[in-house]
Amino acid sequence: MDTQMLIGSKFERGTETEEAILNPRTGETILSLPEASPAQIEAAVTAAQTAFVTWSKTTPAQRSGYLLKIADRIEAEAEAFARLEALNCGKPINAVLNDEIPAIVDCYRFFAGAVRSMPGLVAGEYLPGHTSMIRRDPVGIVASIAPWNYPLMMMAWKLAPAIAGGNTVVFKPSEQTPLTALKLARILAEVLPEGVVNVALGRGESVGNALINHAAVSMISITGDVATGKKVLQAAAKSVKRTHLELGGKAPVIVFDDADIDAVVSGLRAFGYYNAGQDCTAACRIYAGKKVYDKLVADLSSAVSTIRYGQADDTENEIGPLISRRQRDRVASFVERASELKHIEITTGGKPGEGGGFYYQPTVVAGALQEDEIVRREVFGPVVSVTRFSDVDEAVNWANDSDYGLASSVWTKDISRGMATAARLQYGCTWINTHFMLTNEMPHGGLKQSGYGKDMSVYALEDYTAVRHVMIAHG
Ligand code: NAD
Repeated sequence: MDTQMLIGSKFERGTETEEAILNPRTGETILSLPEASPAQIEAAVTAAQTAFVTWSKTTPAQRSGYLLKIADRIEAEAEAFARLEALNCGKPINAVLNDEIPAIVDCYRFFAGAVRSMPGLVAGEYLPGHTSMIRRDPVGIVASIAPWNYPLMMMAWKLAPAIAGGNTVVFKPSEQTPLTALKLARILAEVLPEGVVNVALGRGESVGNALINHAAVSMISITGDVATGKKVLQAAAKSVKRTHLELGGKAPVIVFDDADIDAVVSGLRAFGYYNAGQDCTAACRIYAGKKVYDKLVADLSSAVSTIRYGQADDTENEIGPLISRRQRDRVASFVERASELKHIEITTGGKPGEGGGFYYQPTVVAGALQEDEIVRREVFGPVVSVTRFSDVDEAVNWANDSDYGLASSVWTKDISRGMATAARLQYGCTWINTHFMLTNEMPHGGLKQSGYGKDMSVYALEDYTAVRHVMIAHG
């Protein structure tokens, strides 16, 4: 197992506080890893600065070639990456191998293509005697900070557009899930020029904090909690750094009375509980029309009660445990507080799983009201609430009545109603008759406190490059 950070071309162990890396299926420690020292963080930033001088001058075709090599190497070691991610996160092996790894490989390949064909305004004489042109140049040194829910995928979403755009990076994985980042670091060191990507380990309050406050860092890219995003903004304000924020979500799902309920139920069973609900787009806040509410709650509860987890044969598992005891206890406390309300019924689940792992039963919370905590706050666990609505205005108003604005969905057989409702939702993404589906060609990112950075797609390439105007006077 790779345990060393990548600083320039050197592999080094951190020298500071050790963090226990846990197996969430058992609660046992896999290994402990020390975090980077201030001197190591400094060395990583310096390596990125040095590399920037030449990397920023490479052609899109050259950078594209490097990205394609990274994609090929991940693909060649797909099994090993998947096993490591499954170990560190508790994810079912099939989910990592069949869903995540192909999407990760495709992300590098997408940006390899996209950077060679970036669109923009045409050059021309917008003032007589003067020719204007638009450039898109690298921003500089990017501090990229990732969460624990999809470690290798978040690394792809951050690294691929950043290095495609000509930037160099110091990447910090979550202190809870660094293992696949350390494995990828070995590949990056072989494929990329020295210092283009550096990987530093450590906690947010120490290593993360040092990176976001570093004077030489021009851009901070972070996926994480809203509270963390606010700290990034405060740090960025000191030297006016560019920020790319992907924060939480609490996705509303509007189910109209004419929806195909079997499709809704199988969609929610999959998209509300995938990755044990530790997903910022999870279909977790259901608003059901009054005619369809009872059937939806009954059918969903019985479907959710069949979700398989905790099986010895991991290929049987549909979801894994939560990432940590703390996260499991947090989820449990949300459900406990909800269950104390008279109008709420827990129709399936509602308890931690048995044994030493951090499992929580897939849960349906029925009868929830708009003002309830379970409807308003991000649970980040396998818990879905269902709320009854009486008309479309109420559904749309409740859906939009949230601090978050990342993802949403509308379920109806009437495509006009679907489109009209989608147009009224204040979310970075609205799906109609599905949920959760992402593709590297399309942007992923939010509104409101979900942040404003766009991952994937040409919009990410825009976020990671600076628009510049060059004008020449020629009389
Ligand atoms: P977190 O905010 O605790 O941590 C995210 C990362 O930020 C970690 O690497 C952490 O070490 C670092 N960090 C924490 N405090 C920091 C500080 N003061 N300075 C610098 N870095 C700091 O979030 P988490 O618990 O790892 O992840 C779960 C959260 O991420 C959820 O809220 C979820 O919704 C959100 N998320 C959002 C998206 C999205 O695309 N919008 C995707 C995945 C996860």
